[in-house]
Parts: sequence; C-alpha cells; structure tokens
Amino acid sequence: MSLIDYFAMNIVPMMYRGKGALHPCETGQLTDMVSCIREYDVNIFFIKKNDTFIAIDAGYKNYNSFADECRKINVDPSKVQAMFLTHADPDHAGGLDVGQKNYFTNADVYVGNVEENYLTNTYHRKKIGPFGMKNSVSIKSGYHLLKDGEIIFIGDLKIQSFLVPGHTLGHLVYIINDEMLFTGDSIALNDEGGWCFFDIFNYDSGLNIRSLKTFKRRSEMDHIRYVFTSHNGFTDDVKGAFRHIDTIPDWKKKGFVFDKTAPYDCFAMNNC
Ligand SMILES: [Zn+2]
Repeated sequence: MSLIDYFAMNIVPMMYRGKGALHPCETGQLTDMVSCIREYDVNIFFIKKNDTFIAIDAGYKNYNSFADECRKINVDPSKVQAMFLTHADPDHAGGLDVGQKNYFTNADVYVGNVEENYLTNTYHRKKIGPFGMKNSVSIKSGYHLLKDGEIIFIGDLKIQSFLVPGHTLGHLVYIINDEMLFTGDSIALNDEGGWCFFDIFNYDSGLNIRSLKTFKRRSEMDHIRYVFTSHNGFTDDVKGAFRHIDTIPDWKKKGFVFDKTAPYDCFAMNNC
C-alpha cells in the first residue's frame, strides 16, 4: 500500500474519530438534479438534466459497495458521459484507477491542467516528516485538461472550472449551469457555515484561504443556489458557505467537535 493510501485509510480515520470533521451526505437524491453516493467519508455527485448525465469525482479505489450504492439511487455508472475531478487524491480519483474495475466505462474524464502534475507525480502532494507523499492513482491516458475559468458544454449542462489551489496545487471547483457550486476539498461546512478546509489535509492552508477569497470575488455568486462540499454535505445558504473561509478549524483544541451531528467514525461500517 502506498504512503498516501495508508494515510487516507488508516491515519485519517484514527485522527478524526470523534472530531465531527467528516459528514458526507448519505447516498440519495439531494436536489432535483443532483444525487450522490457516500463512500465512507466522501461523496461522489451525479448531475442529471434531461438526457445529460455527468459526475463530480470518482470516490475511492476498490470501494466494495459501489455497485450496491449505485443501485440504491438507480444510477448506471456506465451512462455517465463526463467525469469532472476536483483533484487527484485517492478518495476523489481512486475510482478511475487503472488497477481496479472501471465502472465509468463511457465517461470522458476531465482534470485540471495544474493537477495533472500531481497525477503524474511531477508535484508531490505534501511532506509528512521527511516523506514527500506521491499520488497512488493512475488514470487511463486520454483524459482532458481544464484551464482556470474554462467553460465547456455537455448536452444541457454548462460546466465552468475555477482553479482554487491550496488543498492541492491544482484543485478545481466547478459551477454547473451557473447555479450549483461543487467545492471539493476547499471548504469544510458545519451549522455555522463554511470554513477553510482542515489544515492537516492541505498542501497550503494560507493559499487555500487566498484562493477562496479570489474565487468569491471573480465568480458570479448571485446565481448560485446550492453549494456542495465533498466531505461535509451541501447547503442552500450560499453566503453562509463562505462565512468563515479565512479561518482554519482548530481541531487540535481540547474537546473540539466540528459538527456535532457527524458520525463518530465514517470509516466504521456499523456507522455507515
Ligand atoms: Zn477529499
């Protein structure tokens, strides 16, 4: 197992147990257009409008119950026309790894042009002590690269990508049809609003904060109706989702619980 997979599957669950930091949506329909699957602590989002069907992020490698979760919401992953990755961490891009069964057989894959450096291990993810963490996900060649601010159309959906570096150096957020914002791992959400994502996972939290402020300034937030995060659910309080973005939740503080309604341990199967 690679260092980053070990970190994601063993260290993270141990550190975060009881902290309320991770609270994804349960598998289900979230809005008229958006449904999701929950894999442990993360969500894969599906967006459907008329005959157009796309997904945001691909979840973990070899997630055992993937097919069962798809059935719960009547999703056939082979019908996904396009897969947009927010970033290349194993909980977001693992589902496309060449070493596992590919469920998204007909999806065109999109990833940020800066993030490709992490995918190819030109950039390291983050240093933990003396170890530079490498990516453990390999994606089939032929994927498409997205630039900051680029707009593409797929059927009835308009997808705009914005570079919001900090969690990873090439992290993208997406605005779909001008009204749905997918923040990936740039924002952590609780009942007080949105915060800078948790420091331990970020390449550079200061950069994440600056990027979020820049994004807020330059994008047309007025039209946005929903904000979806990858690890903390979604909200229609769009202003609230940016309320505390210049603050990093201090989960090391004694007794700290980020979200009191979050599962004690997202990775424990009896809690799922
Ligand atoms: Zn993540």
